[in-house]
Amino acid sequence: MIEIITTIKQVPDTSKIRVDKESGTLIRKGVPAVLNPYCEWAVEAAVSLKEQTPSTITALTMGPPSAEDILIRAMALGADNGILLTDRKFAGSDCRATAYILAQAIKFSAPNADIIITGEEAIDGDTAQVPAELSVFLDMPFIPYVITLESADDGAVTLIHERENRRERIRVKTPFVCSITTGFRTRRLLPLTETIRALSTPITRLSATEIACDEKMIGLKGSPTRVIKIENVVTTRGGKTFHWENRNERKAVIESLV
Ligand SMILES: Cc1cc2nc3c(=O)[nH]c(=O)nc-3n(C[C@H](O)[C@H](O)[C@H](O)COP(=O)(O)OP(=O)(O)OC[C@H]3O[C@@H](n4cnc5c(N)ncnc54)[C@H](O)[C@@H]3O)c2cc1C
Repeated sequence: MIEIITTIKQVPDTSKIRVDKESGTLIRKGVPAVLNPYCEWAVEAAVSLKEQTPSTITALTMGPPSAEDILIRAMALGADNGILLTDRKFAGSDCRATAYILAQAIKFSAPNADIIITGEEAIDGDTAQVPAELSVFLDMPFIPYVITLESADDGAVTLIHERENRRERIRVKTPFVCSITTGFRTRRLLPLTETIRALSTPITRLSATEIACDEKMIGLKGSPTRVIKIENVVTTRGGKTFHWENRNERKAVIESLV
């Protein structure tokens, strides 16, 4: 039995978001929250693997109590369990603190997890840093830009991931962390029975103390980075696209630089 954890994040629905012209920050008030699309693809990837190989899938999120909604959605999509990390002490966490908190939760609730599947990025924070940082805290290898997890056997998983302009099929020993990119797009219909099952499955809530967080590593105080200013970049010059894989175009770029 393969133990899969998918980390999922609640994000504002960006199709309904507005930007404060003065501060450049997002106006989140009144904007509905949804499951980050990359995280939905992460759950899809986990469910597809489970269809090939017996597995359990736990969806894990850090967020406010309302983030339960995305755990219910993940369970309706096929996850077996949901864990909500919610605590005022987590507020203001940057990427490193977020990755640390997720890692502590995995060490606490699934110390023998085989595969940690994340989204490639969150469409609000948009840094794509959490997955790699999570792998460091868990001391596991990290495979980014994964399109699909094909099969699992003998303590290893065969997967396809993108590398610049090519795709590779590789075999990776478990345990590992991987992030799912846009290629995985087989949107599932949500059968009513699955939604009812999800609504009646209890969600585990865990606090900073329960997952043994070092308070110096979490929240605003435990975050080494601060957002000083956010501004829109307005491009005034036209651009030209060169295709690096085209030998002649590559040569032209190199010659223009020397
Ligand atoms: C410098 C800086 C300062 C910040 N300061 C604040 C602040 O003061 N207050 C504040 O509210 N936010 C703050 N943020 C935003 C917050 O840190 C990020 O939203 C959070 O760290 C996740 O980063 P991300 O959204 O870029 O995720 P990414 O790294 O883009 O997400 C990739 C994947 O990681 C996983 N993941 C990310 N976040 C979670 C989560 N919460 N639960 C489960 N899985 C997750 C998901 O699988 C996701 O698909 C700050 C961010 C930065 C960069």
